[in-house]
Amino acid sequence: MSDIITYQNYIDSAFSGSDELIEVLNPANAELLARIPSAGAEQVERAIAAARKAQKGWAARPAIERAGYLRKIASKVRDNAERLAKIITREQGKVPGLALVEVNFTADYLDYMAEWARRLEGEVLTSDRANEHIFLLRKPLGVVAGILPWNFPFFLIARKMAPALLTGNTIVIKPSEETPINCFEFAKLVAETDLPKGVFNVVGGTGAKAGQALTSSAGVDLISFTGSVGTGSRIMAAAAPHITKLNLELGGKAPAIVLADADLELAVNAIKASRVINTGQVCNCAERVYVERKVAEQFIDKIASAMATTRYGDPSVEADLDMGPLINQAGLDKVAQMVKTAIGNGAQLVTGGAVADKGKGFHYQPTVLAGCKADMEIMRKEIFGPVLPIQIVDSLDEAIALANDSEYGLTSSIYTRNLSSALKASRELDFGETYINRENFEAMQGFHAGTRKSGIGGADGKHGLYEYTRTQVVYVQEQS
Ligand code: NAD
Repeated sequence: MSDIITYQNYIDSAFSGSDELIEVLNPANAELLARIPSAGAEQVERAIAAARKAQKGWAARPAIERAGYLRKIASKVRDNAERLAKIITREQGKVPGLALVEVNFTADYLDYMAEWARRLEGEVLTSDRANEHIFLLRKPLGVVAGILPWNFPFFLIARKMAPALLTGNTIVIKPSEETPINCFEFAKLVAETDLPKGVFNVVGGTGAKAGQALTSSAGVDLISFTGSVGTGSRIMAAAAPHITKLNLELGGKAPAIVLADADLELAVNAIKASRVINTGQVCNCAERVYVERKVAEQFIDKIASAMATTRYGDPSVEADLDMGPLINQAGLDKVAQMVKTAIGNGAQLVTGGAVADKGKGFHYQPTVLAGCKADMEIMRKEIFGPVLPIQIVDSLDEAIALANDSEYGLTSSIYTRNLSSALKASRELDFGETYINRENFEAMQGFHAGTRKSGIGGADGKHGLYEYTRTQVVYVQEQS
């Protein structure tokens, strides 16, 4: 297999290997795509030291200069968009159109964060004392550890790197071991620019080894993590001895509420698209539906037909697909088990409900389950697959109460033509984001942040940018 690339860590602007390697597979057919290093503590500490060494000089440059590097990288990403999208499709399984959206959005995000260079502001505060000046300065934190999931692996590089670098931090990224190829390809593009040594570093590896080494290191000032609740909790424990600051973007169990006065076509199309996009592996896609009894039968019929027409398969080979495979065997087994358990507990299978017969890949049929109840696992735990469980409700109040009764608090949505219902829902839904008459995605100028177990802090926009800074207050007493 001579055409199988073995990637290397990118530390201090140099590529270096590792004795131990991890194999990366194509989830659509389980074929070997590449090998990446499995970094241990020594390599991780080397990357952190490089980032530390570079940080002061980097922060000393004017923000507009730092922004210039982000723009250069954005331009490289655009020049390579088609190639990068193909890589993402092969290693992650998303359809080509979505992969290209991810790549272009990543370039736009780098440019968007660069625009903040002239808008980073401190404050001048009013003093209680005569002849005193109080300045609130905004400073970088230092070295950021960015730990990425596999579902939007390329965009997540920028979501962490762009605000970190713009505000004067340096970064060590660890991509998911499921989807690291796009990140090492991104590192190659960074290496083609004149970004100063050590500002951007990538280490490959597992969560247990490289991830644990990064998050338990005394040399890291902020851990910016996107991934599951379980890993977030382990990272909090690893960060505790050094009181390392955390930014955690964790799982979701987004409720979609469909009221009797909703535009049903719109609700069906939006919820179906949200459940199928990226094969249901999106933190803010509709994971459970509460539909008012009056329109329940009609809604279930329509969404079941819509889900049943979903075209799926190997997105590198077949054209015009709506979705590809799940990420791996464990993901497939989890989805299959959750559906089986739900049916065993009384849910009615309306469409789908089985592992798809598509060769060696990890494909699951688009599935609708009706008659679900609040205490079922399928209504409470993140499915992360193309499965839509539906519960019937008798009022908006009941829907909101059920939606809020969740350990997750990332996103939520409501479909209604009634302004008061929409406003009441946005007031009472206890989530970081609420979509009215639409589903995901979030805007880069918004603030993507969950409550409860969905995370701590957030990303995007001004508020996301400032997560990568700390404040220092300076008191100046005038001398007479
Ligand atoms: P995961 O938690 O399994 O892995 C995420 C990353 O953490 C990987 O890079 C992994 O190697 C690393 N990791 C694992 N154990 C670690 C440890 N002990 N210490 C340090 N690092 C460790 O998550 P995943 O399966 O890659 O991603 C799916 C999850 O991510 C879902 O729950 C999804 O909802 C969530 N997600 C959330 C958002 C958001 O913005 N809130 C966005 C995308 C995905």
